[in-house]
Amino acid sequence: MSSIRTRIAPSPTGNLHIGTARTALFNYLFAKKHGGVFVLRIEDTDLERSDPKYEKDILDSLRWLGIDADESPEVGGPYAPYRQSDRTESYKNYIQQLLSQGQAFYCFHSQKELEEEKQKLLEKKLPPLHFCEYREMEAREAETLAQTKTDHVIRFKTPAGRKITFTDIIRGELVFESDLIGDFSVARKMDSALYHLAVVVDDAETKISHIIRGEDHIANTPKHILLNEALGFPQPLYAHLPLILGPDRSKLSKRHGVTSITEYREQGYLPETLINFMALLGWNPGTDQEVFALNELAQVFDIAKVQKSGAVFNIEKLDWLSGEYIRKKTQEELTKLCLPYLCDFLQFKIPNDQFQNEYVEKVVALEQPRLKKLSEIGEKTEYFFRMPKYDKELLRWKNITETEILTSLEFSEKVIKSKIQNPKSKIEIEKIFLEAIGEGDKGSILWPLRVVLTGKKASPGPFDIIEILGAEETLKRLERAKKIL
Ligand code: GLU
Repeated sequence: MSSIRTRIAPSPTGNLHIGTARTALFNYLFAKKHGGVFVLRIEDTDLERSDPKYEKDILDSLRWLGIDADESPEVGGPYAPYRQSDRTESYKNYIQQLLSQGQAFYCFHSQKELEEEKQKLLEKKLPPLHFCEYREMEAREAETLAQTKTDHVIRFKTPAGRKITFTDIIRGELVFESDLIGDFSVARKMDSALYHLAVVVDDAETKISHIIRGEDHIANTPKHILLNEALGFPQPLYAHLPLILGPDRSKLSKRHGVTSITEYREQGYLPETLINFMALLGWNPGTDQEVFALNELAQVFDIAKVQKSGAVFNIEKLDWLSGEYIRKKTQEELTKLCLPYLCDFLQFKIPNDQFQNEYVEKVVALEQPRLKKLSEIGEKTEYFFRMPKYDKELLRWKNITETEILTSLEFSEKVIKSKIQNPKSKIEIEKIFLEAIGEGDKGSILWPLRVVLTGKKASPGPFDIIEILGAEETLKRLERAKKIL
């Protein structure tokens, strides 16, 4: 087994965001390609904003997508626990180590003082960094003061005048000045570590070799490098993925539409669609191929080929891919997937055996070539389950008169009564109708017939529909239309 170990460390402060899911996917693919291990940790140092319901959503969504972690809070692993709130003791030791080495210190500035300082710096157009005077306080004095002044934080003593350099797998060499970092906080108290410290300790203790994460973490990386150095941890390799942008090229957010995997799932996108779509958010294979299954991606994905610039989220592409995957399903599979959406739309109770019949399969199969997501099924096929409602004007083909519409409906009625009483295939029905129409105007017969059956401006053609609905129901609908007229 290779020594490659990647991870994601989502914070359970919201449902799994598509950006985090993409990060998970890239970590997973990189690990799989190189025979490594993909670790899932839960980053809940922010106890106030973290919520177990979000942790559940994150784990459920990743499982649904098929991005299975080799080690996680669910499946465990050799470096458990994998949840930060269960790792307090470990952080404490390292905070103590930093304090003892004189590389961290207690800061007793109040929130108000820090805020005022920040405002002043911003007014002067300077970066709002905090270089803390308390870093010079004698350690024992600080320890004593910390006992009474409990609203302190513990900060890292960022060394002055250092250049911190690392080679990002995607972006190449990046250089940071330690003087532009400031004394950042690593813990609120001994037993409540903050993000920078916790993540560095977790990465070291879970033996992570490659950190693949969003571009928004680039500025954190020099801090993590300094902490690794101070704690004697190995330096992992880094790759920062491009941001996902909305169509207006600003960072993808709620105002662009839905952003969580759960919401896409509810809308009826398939997991394989989302996997394929996310893989192309910032990466492409360098060929024309666009449709990839997860196992295929694990072979062709190349982290070094991920682009630097932002990846624009293209909903048309998502819908196109979605249609591709829907068409790959067998009738039976697709029916099963559509049923909950259909029942929900029609407000039918939980599907019973009677409902899961051949009829629904035929209905679903008819829409399969056009369906973009499962949630469209109800609206598109309602007329197969209920008498359609429509404005009688819709029955009119071009400029034909109402009497002509009536004649057209009577014509269809006659054809069906005389020739389509027994079940017939679409091809047979089509042949019968076209022969009966002969040299006559097809539109004036077939348009009103189709509207009578569907109540819709656009739908599959009338022969497909009659094949499924059957002669009896077709005649019922024709009868009703005549009454409306
Ligand atoms: N918890 C962070 C996030 O959700 C991840 C931190 C990291 O990858 O280092 O963005």
